[in-house]
Order: sequence, then structure tokens, then C-alpha cells
Amino acid sequence: MFYYETTCRYCRNPYKLVEGSKKYQQFKKNRQMKVSCDDCERRIEADSRKYLFNRD
Ligand SMILES: [Zn+2]
Repeated sequence: MFYYETTCRYCRNPYKLVEGSKKYQQFKKNRQMKVSCDDCERRIEADSRKYLFNRD
């Protein structure tokens, strides 16, 4: 399987963009794109949800 190897913008761990995935398609068009790994994406998603709940 073909993939691009890049680095997560948050944790700096190596991250593979596997052919056919959404991020792979985006990265193909823009090689300068900052990519976040699945773990960081989940963490950010949880954080933003927390923020929404704590807004009031
Ligand atoms: Zn990460």
C-alpha cells in the first residue's frame, strides 16, 4: 500500500497518510499541509467538546 510519511503537528510523532484516506487526498494536493495524528485529533475533538460544554 502506498502512503506519505509525515510528522504530526502536535506531538511530532511520525504519521503515515495511507492511500485512499481523506488526509492522503488533501496532502497530495498540498504537501505543505500540517497533519495531526489520530490520537491528537481525538484529543482536540474532546477538548473542543469540553469547551463547548463549559461555555456558559
Ligand atoms: Zn499527534
